[in-house]
Amino acid sequence: MPSCEVLVVGGGPTGLYLGALLARHGVDVAVLERRAEPSSHSRAIGLHPPALETLDELDVREEVVAAGARVHTGEARSRGRLLGSLTFERAWPQNPFVLTLPQQRTEAVLERRLAELAPGALRRGREVLEVHDTGPGPVRVLVRDTAPAGAEETWTARVVVAAGGAHADTGEPAGTTGRVRTYPDTYLMGDVTDATGDPGTAAIHLEPEGVVESFPLPGGVRRWVVHTGRSPEQSPGQELAQRLAEIVARRTGAVLDVGSTSMVSAFAVRCRLAERTVAGRRVVLGDAAHEISPIGGQGMTLGWLDARELVPLLVRELRGGGGHDLADVPGLRAFQRRRLSAARRAAWQAGVNTRLGRPVPAVVCGARDGLLRAVLATPARHGLAGAFSMRWAGAAQQPGGVQAHGRTLGPAVPATGRGR
Ligand SMILES: Cc1cc2nc3c(=O)[nH]c(=O)nc-3n(C[C@H](O)[C@H](O)[C@H](O)COP(=O)(O)OP(=O)(O)OC[C@H]3O[C@@H](n4cnc5c(N)ncnc54)[C@H](O)[C@@H]3O)c2cc1C
Repeated sequence: MPSCEVLVVGGGPTGLYLGALLARHGVDVAVLERRAEPSSHSRAIGLHPPALETLDELDVREEVVAAGARVHTGEARSRGRLLGSLTFERAWPQNPFVLTLPQQRTEAVLERRLAELAPGALRRGREVLEVHDTGPGPVRVLVRDTAPAGAEETWTARVVVAAGGAHADTGEPAGTTGRVRTYPDTYLMGDVTDATGDPGTAAIHLEPEGVVESFPLPGGVRRWVVHTGRSPEQSPGQELAQRLAEIVARRTGAVLDVGSTSMVSAFAVRCRLAERTVAGRRVVLGDAAHEISPIGGQGMTLGWLDARELVPLLVRELRGGGGHDLADVPGLRAFQRRRLSAARRAAWQAGVNTRLGRPVPAVVCGARDGLLRAVLATPARHGLAGAFSMRWAGAAQQPGGVQAHGRTLGPAVPATGRGR
């Protein structure tokens, strides 16, 4: 029967990051991912400065920064006029930019790092069906092969971490998944050749018909996101790309090269926050614990911050003998409190961003433009730059800061691979 100290359900950005960091600290970890191949979807593109801080822990920050595009300036526009702009020097003097990199490329870096730290720890084509945590003994996990489909086996682990994302369903403990709230907002997004000639600037167009956002990506590409009302666009890919271009042109005058569209997708927005994240010998992290509106791009960063804070606590628990109900461990209870509070903060911000982008009558748009223009002309814009780049979640806001994690744990050691 295969076994490990920590079994991570899901090899998305949260699971890969957690697996690599646990391995870095000598924990025997397995990451089970139901997809046989990496996802090719470029969902998360925004890496705020706190995300880059977490990547330091795995020594991959420089590699990721070199691969990404640096957004130094954010502009607010409306009806053809510039309302004002933001830069990040005050909020982040050491790192005055938000990085963009398509999620599949970020995941590829993490997957490679996990393979270096713990060869074979990532098991693709393995779907976790059920988790049985019934007592002080090991947790039993029923796993099915998805490629080729069929064979089942039971794993055992001392701790199971659910990082299976927003639609995970492995019978998580009561209270760890939360109730789904659906926003009345749908969007269309696509990546096309960047014809703006300004690869360091992101733009938010607050238009009466709804928001248009655009973000530079590496390789001369730009991501466009438009609000499309209450029901998602249903057309097939090429028509969606055309539809995106039409909406952008009508609202902003910008002309997209439809033929260069490398990704187009329609999405709706949900919010779901767990009431607890620690129960028995199980912990829930990332989108599995908190799904927030992607408008503002905070989800992936939140998952990594969860994982970074969990690792030293879990290592201490495992090295101290473990077997306890993790919800009885004071450090883990405090972890749960802090991470849920961070998720609520991010969800609030994402909600504000989402509401700001809704269609409004022209008269309201005019008043909103005036207010924004006034705010962006004052030093308050530095506060806004900090809020939009998750300054509240930076190292200074973590218990003891990033360095404290290193001190608590001592030097990282190679994974043993024991038990597999
Ligand atoms: C359109 C869009 C744009 C976004 N933009 C941003 C952004 O700019 N910045 C940002 O920070 N965030 C952004 N996000 C959010 C971000 O994509 C998510 O927060 C992030 O992917 C969550 O990572 P995760 O690992 O927790 O979950 P996921 O990425 O969902 O990964 C979970 C993994 O677990 C696997 N899995 C699930 N169940 C099982 C099982 N039973 N057994 C085995 N494997 C399983 C899945 O196959 C998947 O690979 C965006 C999201 C969307 C939809």
